[in-house]
Amino acid sequence: MRTSKGTKRRGSGPHGVSGSEVTVPGASDLGDGIAQIRLPMAGNPLRYINGYVVEDEGGLTLVDCGWKAGDVLAALHAGLHELGHDLSGVQRILITHHHFDHYGLAATLRRAGVPELLMHERDWEIAQHFAATHKEDDRASDAWLERNGFVPSDAGDEGFAGRWEIMEPTALVADGERVGRLEAVWTPGHSPGHLCFADARSGRLLTGDHVLDPITPHVGLWRDRDADPIGDYLASLEKVRGRGPAGALPAHGEPFADLDRRVGELIAHTLGREAQIVGVLAAGTASAGAIAERLPWTRRNRTFESLGAWHQQFAVSETIAHLRHLFVNGRITLASGPDPIRYTPAA
Ligand SMILES: [Zn+2]
Ligand SMILES: [Zn+2]
Repeated sequence: MRTSKGTKRRGSGPHGVSGSEVTVPGASDLGDGIAQIRLPMAGNPLRYINGYVVEDEGGLTLVDCGWKAGDVLAALHAGLHELGHDLSGVQRILITHHHFDHYGLAATLRRAGVPELLMHERDWEIAQHFAATHKEDDRASDAWLERNGFVPSDAGDEGFAGRWEIMEPTALVADGERVGRLEAVWTPGHSPGHLCFADARSGRLLTGDHVLDPITPHVGLWRDRDADPIGDYLASLEKVRGRGPAGALPAHGEPFADLDRRVGELIAHTLGREAQIVGVLAAGTASAGAIAERLPWTRRNRTFESLGAWHQQFAVSETIAHLRHLFVNGRITLASGPDPIRYTPAA
């Protein structure tokens, strides 16, 4: 897919940095009939995405499949082989969300004979919309950022080109639905149709990009739509509390033991960002772009100016999402006047 900014709505975590090729460790048996296969994300600082192989009645379930690339397919084959399986044993691919690093290879795997592909209806709608309109969609999100006081520069495609292919799911998965031993937990925020999966056998929660450690998942608002992704995200964090008593299996990074500890940290972080934004607004009416320029970014507290072009766009979309949440809750109001859209503290 040739699109200059196609990853805006599908990236996760820190973006905009390209690195050299990295060697990614392969497969690990995690016990309880679950294994982790690290699938490479060449050139991306996240380094790899975890595909989880879950043994179930009727075959293997693969949760997330990596983006569409030869090295990813090779790593998947090698990982399955290392675990004593092969692709013919995979009955279904279960997608946490539509972002290209989680869903991009699904079409390839379906054509290679994997019988089932499952995802949430909302993300399937977004995938279809994106496949149909990606160029206009990119222009729309550029225009939206501009209306919010930030003029995006051409940031390149961040490795997206050709790594995402649409494939219709064989079934949609709703909140609370069981797929074998896994229960879908709808967790909108990072994407509108994001799913976590609670494993009934092991007591672990497969968290996708919803709960990562130590990465902070990206939650942004990339266009003018009637939505409050930060509100959704906070509710989705509360929703998974207690759902992984035996630990979390995230899509990026390594498994971690204390899900509820990390949930608490992410809620605190989100509320902390909110407080920083309110603090900036206390000094005067400002647009999302102007606020983002005054906030510290990443765990290293980098200045906005020091971020790459991609990361700046993610920072502004995240600031917009926070402002929307504060607005929905009556804590700030819209300032009158022409664009850019500016906010002011509520009286
Ligand atoms: Zn991801
Ligand atoms: Zn994602």
